[in-house]
Amino acid sequence: MEPYRIKAVEPIPATTREQRARALDRVGYNLFGLRAEEVTIDLLTDSGTGALSAAQWAAGAAGDESYAGSRSFHRFREAVEELTSYPHILPVHQGRAAERVLFSTLLAPGRITLSNTHFDTTRANVELSGCQARDLPCPRARNLHGPEPFKGDIDLVGLAAELRGPDASRIALVIMTLTNNGEGGQPVSMDNLARAAALCREHGVPLFLDAARFAENAYLVTQCESGYGGHSPTDVAKEAFRLADGCLMSAKKDGIVHIGGFLGLRDDALARRCELTLIATEGFPTYGGLAGRDLEMIAQGLTEALDPRYLRSRAEAAAHLAALCRTAGVRLVEPPGLHALYLDAGHLLPHIAPHRFPGHALACALYLEGGIRSVELGSLYLGKEDSNGEPVTTAPYELLRLALPRRTYTRSHLDHVGQTLEAVVKNKHRVPGYRIVEAAPFLRHFRARLEPVPAGPATTATTGETPDHEGRAENGCDQDRGSRVRRALTAPPATGSGGPA
Ligand SMILES: *Cc1c(COP(=O)(O)O)cnc(C)c1O
Repeated sequence: MEPYRIKAVEPIPATTREQRARALDRVGYNLFGLRAEEVTIDLLTDSGTGALSAAQWAAGAAGDESYAGSRSFHRFREAVEELTSYPHILPVHQGRAAERVLFSTLLAPGRITLSNTHFDTTRANVELSGCQARDLPCPRARNLHGPEPFKGDIDLVGLAAELRGPDASRIALVIMTLTNNGEGGQPVSMDNLARAAALCREHGVPLFLDAARFAENAYLVTQCESGYGGHSPTDVAKEAFRLADGCLMSAKKDGIVHIGGFLGLRDDALARRCELTLIATEGFPTYGGLAGRDLEMIAQGLTEALDPRYLRSRAEAAAHLAALCRTAGVRLVEPPGLHALYLDAGHLLPHIAPHRFPGHALACALYLEGGIRSVELGSLYLGKEDSNGEPVTTAPYELLRLALPRRTYTRSHLDHVGQTLEAVVKNKHRVPGYRIVEAAPFLRHFRARLEPVPAGPATTATTGETPDHEGRAENGCDQDRGSRVRRALTAPPATGSGGPA
């Protein structure tokens, strides 16, 4: 059971099917465009959507809002240093700000970063620095439905080959993402992390943790890695941080706050340089874009996120929803992690071609049927079409993510998700695919407008559409995406354009 009881409640919206159908039409079938009060169960993300504890609210009320040297900063710094062992802790307003501060200081154009899988903002910030982000997921990650743990590991053979290869002198840093958000939220084993750290040390390349879900990763290590059964999540997390030279942290995940993050560093000289960037772009180093109350809430939240009873109930909630999905006949990325379930929409809706976006089709169907908001991670997110809407590349898998906000929804909310999914599956042949009618040149999934395309083989025959699997990158990553991000961000704005930025 949940190791807490509820002290403050917030009503959740109830809508009719007709209202939801109208809302979908209004927002161009893009769930990012909905108003939150049109959503009954919001599983869009676990980022910044958790519930604060009474202790966090109390700490926040005691926040010291002094510009420099506030008591809250010192409490925050001591809590984070105790956890991470890094002597330099720079607060930032969220994870991507830590990325920008570190990369704009440490990277120079032409350098390379390696990772088990870069998170999308991490990749974008690497590429905005004129560098190349290379993903090295372990080969097991490709076996989506296999039960083996630690599919978030880095490919150690690939890492060693890169560190000894022809581009070795250009490798600026290695980032281990814990848990591996880009690979279905799968955890990284301590064995893999230690071996990666040893390789980095041997080659003099700094290792950073993208630690957004460090507590969930530590919990899964205590559950699944041999030799760690008797360890506490806190001990495992501390050991993980000690293996690296620094960390990038989005506290919106395992800090259980609504906004915040930090950059942790061992190196004195690098920390001094990062501080200058921080002052110029985030704020003075004792607040870094946050209020004193935020710093207090993070310090408290980091401790609560490591509570084994909380982590266990979170794992059990995810397992409960996973069981409901399997019962409804939906395949998942296995084993289910803690922060989200990834549903195999390509398998569920084989009548929808990849470039008609089965994951997005399932997202729209879940909203229409039960007011549930989720997000596609498939060809709408990763694919490309030419100007005629013909597929150029599609994603390796057509997934739908159901993210689980921390301490926010109860089992009966999850039961509603399960029942909704069951109802959609019953009529799955009637779920239509989608075509894009308007999209930005990059990060299009946030703002694209779409329209339904009636399902069925007749559509395919009359338009001559053939699903194209040829152009898929082996690891599903789009090497051009970053350069498009960079071009689009540096290009002068199109005058008179009312379109999405
Ligand atoms: C969310 C996230 C980030 C970015 O953090 P924000 O707080 O959203 O800016 C970076 N890496 C990972 C793995 C994340 O999940």
